[in-house]
Amino acid sequence: MSIKENLHKIQVSIPENITLVVVTKTQPVEKIMEAYDAGYTIFGENKVQEMLNKYESLPKDIQWHLIGHLQTNKVKHIASFVSLIQSVDSLKLLQEINKHALKNNRVINCLLQIHIAKEEAKFGFDFNEAQQLIDSEDLKKLLNIRIIGLMGMSTNTDNQEQVIREFKSLKRFYDEHKQLSTFNFQLLTLSMGMSADYDIAIAEGSTMIRVGSSVFGERGKIPA
Ligand SMILES: *Cc1c(COP(=O)(O)O)cnc(C)c1O
Repeated sequence: MSIKENLHKIQVSIPENITLVVVTKTQPVEKIMEAYDAGYTIFGENKVQEMLNKYESLPKDIQWHLIGHLQTNKVKHIASFVSLIQSVDSLKLLQEINKHALKNNRVINCLLQIHIAKEEAKFGFDFNEAQQLIDSEDLKKLLNIRIIGLMGMSTNTDNQEQVIREFKSLKRFYDEHKQLSTFNFQLLTLSMGMSADYDIAIAEGSTMIRVGSSVFGERGKIPA
């Protein structure tokens, strides 16, 4: 199936109000253009340099989401154009994003990445750390960022019960903070679900899914 057909198949299988972020990491510009020509303009990348290269060579109405770990010293490279940073995992990073957003005279939308998986390797706040950040005076000083939601990744496992439990835990935390609304904090987006588990994630309350291999085929494999 073509990229366009894959996208169509996903689009018709999910509710209309779910935002589909097409994960373009490792994909060449020509393939990304196939998704763009099919009408998709929200793309996710996990590496700063790769996102920058693609930003420079692709149409300017694309909304670029950073979905991978962001080092503080690299924020400056994407601050002028990034549409949403989904992978905020420390106050220090948030302060750096704020600094460069200010330099660019803009407000940068962010999601807090919450660690819900069993795997050690995944980045993110645990619920206590996220709570501390939300309660902190430091957050109130950041005039050029806006936390608009949460992002989480489930454990890479065939155990569906576990995946469901993890998504439920994030949805519960999201719901507990939905009432809170300040100038730089209001939860409107719950980003959870990838190719393997977006159907489960949507059933558990996701509003945004990030899908790569179901669109482009498995990364690093040559398509048949
Ligand atoms: C790669 C990646 C995805 C997409 O994964 P697929 O399994 O290819 O759909 C989603 N979210 C994050 C954070 C990723 O790094």
